[in-house]
Amino acid sequence: MTEKKPDLKSMTREEVEAFAEAAGEKRYRGRQLYEWMHAHQAASFDEMKNLPEAWKRRLSETCEYTVLTPLRRQVSAEDGTKKYLFALADGHVVETVFMPYRFGNSVCVSSQVGCRMGCRFCASAIGGWERDLTPAEILEQVYAVERENGKISHVVVMGTGEPLDNYDSLVRFVRLLSDENGRHLSQRNITVSTCGLVPQIKKLAQEGLQITLALSLHAPDQKKRLELMPVANRYDIHEAVEACLAYAKDTGRRVTFEYSLIEGVNDSGEDAEQLALLLKGSGGHVNLIPVNPVAERTFRRSRRAAVEAFKNKLEKNGINVTIRREMGRDIDGACGQLRRRHISETREG
Ligand code: SAH
Repeated sequence: MTEKKPDLKSMTREEVEAFAEAAGEKRYRGRQLYEWMHAHQAASFDEMKNLPEAWKRRLSETCEYTVLTPLRRQVSAEDGTKKYLFALADGHVVETVFMPYRFGNSVCVSSQVGCRMGCRFCASAIGGWERDLTPAEILEQVYAVERENGKISHVVVMGTGEPLDNYDSLVRFVRLLSDENGRHLSQRNITVSTCGLVPQIKKLAQEGLQITLALSLHAPDQKKRLELMPVANRYDIHEAVEACLAYAKDTGRRVTFEYSLIEGVNDSGEDAEQLALLLKGSGGHVNLIPVNPVAERTFRRSRRAAVEAFKNKLEKNGINVTIRREMGRDIDGACGQLRRRHISETREG
């Protein structure tokens, strides 16, 4: 087996400083390297003007320095959304989405190559799980998008993968992205979406982070949720909701519940009543998303009138609701679809 190279961009500042010292360099050289990586988001060692040439050469030969370059780019003519396909060092590919909003630009990053959660409506579930992303690979999706589009203000971990199934990398990613000596993005502008891995939600609540948690609910009760999301076999819907409410209490952050509306499956008036009952008094916020049709699946999105009616019913029952503005509908909107298309095309090629 080949020895794993030290992964520079996944290290904390203290770790980079200790690494520099162990390599016979001064500690402050480590700090300079860290700032080049995270405050300046250098795309190569060449940009790191104040570091000794010999050390940079040694680093480039012996260490991993993760930089992502776009393999493909799709730009929405409708709203300027850009979808990127990035190649990883081992040949895997990940999807990242840049979304321009009036209040600031946002990036949606992937946390794994593929996913093992198996949600029935999701394109990322189709090929299964390949591997976890490193903290550097998650971070670089943000940095690479910023190199092309300028500074972004919000990051959502809602791309391919289940972030809490790659827990350590996710937490390290959040700490690095928000570090005041690095990129320094406010944790309040970072949202992590989970299908509901209860033990990890409980652990996350104790990390002292200020990120927003979103729970992918997609059903008003355990029976319907089981039909859509195999994770419900492991954690009951009530358990998942309670874990999120405990997260909100421990962190002071509001929790969002995501609900993708699928025609004839979870979009009836009765479903809305049930959902309101489930979330009554929780203070949580519901985000309604008309499901994105996935080529390999038969689900259809709810009609506009059904979406509006669902929203009204929730509001009447005292639940806060927004309908997610859809972005990039003309460019393989649903997560994982660009990656799937790339994989099948390169296989055929
Ligand atoms: N694994 C995490 C994050 C990735 S998915 C999670 O489950 O939350 C981000 C969001 O998109 C989730 O709410 C997911 O359920 C939803 N989603 C997946 N496929 C979708 C589709 N075809 N249409 C609408 N939403 C979808």
